[in-house]
Amino acid sequence: MFQSIMLRNGGSETVASIENIRDEQLPNGNVTVRIGHSCLNYKDALAITGRGSVVRAFPMVPGIDFAGTVEQSTDSRFTAGEMVLLNGFGVGEVHWGGLAGKARVDADWLIHLPPVMSDRQAMQIGTAGYTAMLCVMALERAGVTPNKGEVVVTGASGGVGGIATLLLSKLGYRVVAITGRPQEADYLHALGAKTILSRGEFEKPGKPLQKQRWAGAIDSLGGPALANVCAGMVEDGVVTACGLAQSIDFPATVAPFIFRGVHLIGINSVYRNLADRIVAWRRLADTIDFGALEAMTTTIPLTEVCSTASDIVDGKIRGRIVVDVDA
Ligand code: NDP
Repeated sequence: MFQSIMLRNGGSETVASIENIRDEQLPNGNVTVRIGHSCLNYKDALAITGRGSVVRAFPMVPGIDFAGTVEQSTDSRFTAGEMVLLNGFGVGEVHWGGLAGKARVDADWLIHLPPVMSDRQAMQIGTAGYTAMLCVMALERAGVTPNKGEVVVTGASGGVGGIATLLLSKLGYRVVAITGRPQEADYLHALGAKTILSRGEFEKPGKPLQKQRWAGAIDSLGGPALANVCAGMVEDGVVTACGLAQSIDFPATVAPFIFRGVHLIGINSVYRNLADRIVAWRRLADTIDFGALEAMTTTIPLTEVCSTASDIVDGKIRGRIVVDVDA
């Protein structure tokens, strides 16, 4: 028996509770993992609170990522005792996920944990940090080097935004952080942000073309914030769009794209190919400042997952939430 968060369909609402699960109840898969740590991402919070259409089949164990130890495997790529991690592939949405003591999954969805990282450190990074690294890699591939100019990061107090700020500053970029929480200025400077701007400036529709400010952007908000960021890019600037914490809408014009050659690159971490996953996690292992990561982490037990999920959707949580599934 092990403990798990379980989501059940309560008609007009999602009912979340902690349940005891037996191994036989786990879904099909060729690798069983004893989970060491999981974490809470924005998508997990939407699933648990029922405030977004994330869960496609009930009952569901939420948790889009986890790290732990292989307990059993019938796939030759993984053997018992090895440390592994998983991000995405519909886990926690259509297949039981990581907010539990164990998971059984398809071997194709797993990668080995980078040797320098513990399972807790992997979940301090989590899908938020892995996505931030995919954004950084996309900027690099598009030619945005530190000498090209500033890189703007939205949702900077959150998981993707915070780790993006940490990574970019470590890689030598000058980071401009946009936040709705000016009281987090010291925190954002400690992550490496050079300039902090108020989200309020970016929440209302703006002019199609604005003052040219940024060479690169990592946006996790969508909505008017993404439109205003696009409008403020320099010639040939590159915007990576990965989130919708403000809105799924994109109320923009084509002006930045056709008059300034701005590039807009979408980032989908969920079904990313294996090669990119391995590179992203190796780069994270090489680049991340684990001390700074610790300072942006709060660790909670399974019993605090539901209340914390509400706080995440309400934009009250700073940094990353790690879940110790055995605490
Ligand atoms: P977090 O909750 O950790 O951070 C989101 C941040 O956005 C908040 O800290 C806050 O930052 C800001 N924010 C929150 N609510 C609002 C709002 N209503 N309007 C404007 N800004 C708001 O989430 P994550 O960083 O984990 O995820 C961010 C987004 O990225 C989500 O939409 C998530 O689904 C998406 N995502 C997408 C992935 C992909 O594969 N494409 C993978 C991972 C995440 P502040 O207070 O500093 O402004």
